[in-house]
Amino acid sequence: MENTNSSIQEIQNFKGKYPKQLWYLFFSEMWERFSFYGMRGMLVIFMVSQLSMNDKVANLQYGATQAFVYAFTFIGGLFADKLLGYRKSLFWGGLLMIIGSIILAIDPQHFFFFGISFTIIGTGFFKPNISTIVGKLYADDDPRRDAGFSLFYAGVNLGALIGGYICIAVANGSLWASLVPAALRWNVAFGFAAVVMLVSLITFTQTQKSLGEIGLSPLAAMQASKRKRLELATYIGSLLIIPIIMTMVSNTDYTDIFMFIIGPASLLYLFYEMRSFSVAENKKLIAALVFIVFSIFFWAFFEQSGGSLSLFAAHNLNNTVLGVSLDPNGVNNAANSFFVIVFAALVGMVWLWLHKRKLEPNTVVKFGLGFLFLAGGFAIFYYTKFFADASGKTSLNLFTFGWFIITFGELCLSPIGMSAMTKLSPAKTQAVIMGMWFLASAYGQYFAGLLGANIADASEHASNLEKLNVYANGYKQLAIYALIAGVVLITIAPLVKKLMQDVK
Ligand code: GLN
Repeated sequence: MENTNSSIQEIQNFKGKYPKQLWYLFFSEMWERFSFYGMRGMLVIFMVSQLSMNDKVANLQYGATQAFVYAFTFIGGLFADKLLGYRKSLFWGGLLMIIGSIILAIDPQHFFFFGISFTIIGTGFFKPNISTIVGKLYADDDPRRDAGFSLFYAGVNLGALIGGYICIAVANGSLWASLVPAALRWNVAFGFAAVVMLVSLITFTQTQKSLGEIGLSPLAAMQASKRKRLELATYIGSLLIIPIIMTMVSNTDYTDIFMFIIGPASLLYLFYEMRSFSVAENKKLIAALVFIVFSIFFWAFFEQSGGSLSLFAAHNLNNTVLGVSLDPNGVNNAANSFFVIVFAALVGMVWLWLHKRKLEPNTVVKFGLGFLFLAGGFAIFYYTKFFADASGKTSLNLFTFGWFIITFGELCLSPIGMSAMTKLSPAKTQAVIMGMWFLASAYGQYFAGLLGANIADASEHASNLEKLNVYANGYKQLAIYALIAGVVLITIAPLVKKLMQDVK
């Protein structure tokens, strides 16, 4: 049994590169992401093939679910900070995700939006808070923090890679077809998401004692019965809201309204909270907001992966990578996660190595580099058009190389951004800030859909070769915008650094 009484200092004074608790959280998050990305990879195909939606509607609907999922991380963060604490939030979120996937496993055709609504709220309670707990394992000035987030991020992508592949492959009948009766493929595939989420939750409950006092109730000083009532109200409230989510997510007009409101509302809330913080704390929060705003652009481009890039892969890419024959859509889905897993630890080590030589770039510059890599990747997607044959098919090799470059951009921005949120926020509001970080992803997903729809719209009824040109030119535009964003960030780095004060 783990020592229940470890103080935060004891945990943070760990020896070696990583605290052991990071490994527990790594596996818990890995299984959660398996479940999440497994389900995400099935949504559009399921809606088109089983719910008879057309492509456009399915894409909009898909964008709506993704936007809602990430938007609810803000709300999940808020309730964790104020009422539940990170651990109970995580448990409750995991439970809702399990229930959601069981509903989908039982009858996805009839209860699709009902099940999805559970997973939306569940992810909201789970996702931001596990990342916040990772941040708590490190003392404020510990240089090992970014490396820790990079490792954690490898766990995210290991789950994404396996889940993203297995669930849809089982649902499509291209994997284990002899074991799973054809009529039950979707049920089994959604069932996988439920089983692995259960594994995630068990991993967490069995290891959470090692977290000592991290993530316990923020209301410890309150009378126990009153605290319990508030917790119960949160649980019941989150169940009562499910029919509302169901209505909103199944009608994409509501998504527009929701996105219009949630961002400004979260900002107003943050400004309200800022009244009780010192000037120094508020400066750090402004710096956090700069990162959050830039990350919206990053994700809007990056998330083309689920939308326009998958259409591009389907129409315009051949099927060999380094002589091996592979499905271009599979490569588009999996290459990025694969590269993250292979290179996350290496990038973490590079930061530590540079740190020892006093050469480590600060977070703003890392963000700027992230955009430069993103620009490089999209420039490569653009260049694929010069390698096309007469039927408009071009090199999957080059395309995969594009993802390789973008992955370094993601590694400069996503784990570093999460890490920065935990450093820049006062303890009291950490999960809200983490929630806002993921809220930026919600906007990214939302805008990614709009951008992708624009690109796709321009090439309707075109030949494959014309499509290739339209898509490639679209990616050139994105490359230019990403380049501008990177240059702007690196230029304003000294200013933002001032706001960050002692935070590197
Ligand atoms: N791929 C990462 C994850 O699932 C980041 C997602 C995001 O912030 N948009 O955790």
